[in-house]
Amino acid sequence: MDLSGATESSNVEDRRGMKATGGVIAGGGGLLVLILGLVFGVDLNKLGVTGGGGREGPPPADNYKTFVAKVLGTIETVWKNEFAKTSNGYGNKRYENAKLVLFTSGVNTGGCGFAPSDVGPFYCPADKTIYLDPSFFNELEQKLGGSKGEFSQAYVIAHENGHHVQNLLGYSARVDSKRKTRQENEYSIRLELQADYLAGVWAYHGQKQFNFIRPGDIDDAIKTAKSIGDDRIMQKMGRKPWPESFNHGTADQRLASFTAGLRTGNATKQKLDEFFTVAFDAHSAELDPALFR
Ligand SMILES: [Zn+2]
Repeated sequence: MDLSGATESSNVEDRRGMKATGGVIAGGGGLLVLILGLVFGVDLNKLGVTGGGGREGPPPADNYKTFVAKVLGTIETVWKNEFAKTSNGYGNKRYENAKLVLFTSGVNTGGCGFAPSDVGPFYCPADKTIYLDPSFFNELEQKLGGSKGEFSQAYVIAHENGHHVQNLLGYSARVDSKRKTRQENEYSIRLELQADYLAGVWAYHGQKQFNFIRPGDIDDAIKTAKSIGDDRIMQKMGRKPWPESFNHGTADQRLASFTAGLRTGNATKQKLDEFFTVAFDAHSAELDPALFR
C-alpha cells in the first residue's frame, strides 16, 4: 500500500502502553452494542487468540500511528465526498469523522464499557470511536489465515468505519430494533456484509484519489475477508459450521460484498438499502447473491 499521497487524520489517539482497568463490560445493552461492531462473531479467546503486550509505558516509537492516521485520513476524505453528493440521496446528512483509539490488552471506551483485546477491532456507536489493538493482525495472520499486510489492515479499519457510516445513516438503528428477536442474527449479517461493502466503496474511491493500491494488496484483503467468515472461524474452532449461529456472514459472502463495493464504488442510498431488502436464506445464512452483482 502506498500512502505517500495521503494526509494524516487528527482523530487518532495512541493509548498503547496505557493500562486500562475494568474487566467488566458495561451492563445492559453495552455488550450487545459493542459486539455488533466486531469483525468477528466469536470471542477470540476461544481460538487461543489473546491481545498482546500488556507492558505499561509510553506508546512504542514506531510509525504505526502515522500509518493508521493516513489510512483514516483517506477514509475521511472519501466519506466526506460521498455524503456531499446529492446523487447518493442521503438528504442533508453531513459526514462527521469517527475517532480511532489504538490500545494494548484492554481499553476503557466512552460508552461501551471496558473491552479486552480478545474482542478484536470494534466500533463503539455511543462514542463514535473505532478501537484497535494492532497485535490483532498478528493473530489474524497466524491463527486465522488472514493477512497482516497494510492494505488488509486498512480494509479492517475501513470496515469498522463502515459501522460508523451505518450509525450516521441510520442502518445500525434498524438492526438494534431486531435485537432479542428471531431475526437478530439475520440483521447482524445484513449489517456486517454492508460494512464489508462500505470498505470496498472506500477502496474504490480512495484508489481514484490517492492511487494507494499496489500489487498484492487486493490479494491480502481477499485473504482476510475470507478468513473472517463465520463458517471459516467455526472450522478453525474445530466445530461444524452452523448457519443458525452465524452473525457476520460466510467467507464467500464477505468476500463478494467487499469486492462488489470495490468494483462499483456505488454508495447510493438505494444500493445500501438493498442490504436490508434482499431475501435472506436462513438455511445457508446467506443474502440473495444478486446483491453483489
Ligand atoms: Zn463488523
